[in-house]
Amino acid sequence: MKTIQLKIKGMTCPSCSVAVERQLNELNGILDKFINHVTDSGKISFDDALVSEEEIIAKINEGHYKVAGFENITNAIEVPACPTCGQSGQLVPNTVFKSNLKPVFYKQIDSAKKHFACMNPTCKTAYYSGDFTIPFDGLKRELWYKSYSRKKIICYCNNIDREQIKVAVQQQGLNTWEEITGFYRKKPIEKCELLNPTGLCCRDKFNEVVKKFSH
Ligand SMILES: [Zn+2]
Repeated sequence: MKTIQLKIKGMTCPSCSVAVERQLNELNGILDKFINHVTDSGKISFDDALVSEEEIIAKINEGHYKVAGFENITNAIEVPACPTCGQSGQLVPNTVFKSNLKPVFYKQIDSAKKHFACMNPTCKTAYYSGDFTIPFDGLKRELWYKSYSRKKIICYCNNIDREQIKVAVQQQGLNTWEEITGFYRKKPIEKCELLNPTGLCCRDKFNEVVKKFSH
């Protein structure tokens, strides 16, 4: 058995994820699949005696959505499932908690343990470690990838949301991270490993949102 993590471009809603899953149903040897339009990702486990990653990627590319990259995660650390919803999340560096959590929740973090973010858009859990969970409202700011968040912050370092990117693109004609953050902030900062709740760099998502508003 092999497990790969795919980056899939072009998905915008839950029915896009379903469409990708339907493509995969046409193949033999797929053991498990989880496609998430919110994170533009897919995690697929398959019997590599029956099907190869090249065939999987080619099959997805036959549809509307394109695979932008993949990673073999067969031997990667096992990411435990979120105890609230049962979906597997993603590892977050413990460095993100200080700036993102309300003090009462920050106090509960055991820095010797690994913590994971639940990326399921409808689950109310933000982070977990074993059975320990931190709810979405344990954070100082909202998580853009949760469907119930009202403010869709894209750049957490400079506190710039989706709406502000839209204004910068459509009314100011700006289209790069530098131009847009510079338009809103005197001195834009970039410390995603501390300020972004996922610990990941926001630039990919940022550019994607810019592109969405560009035409
Ligand atoms: Zn969850």
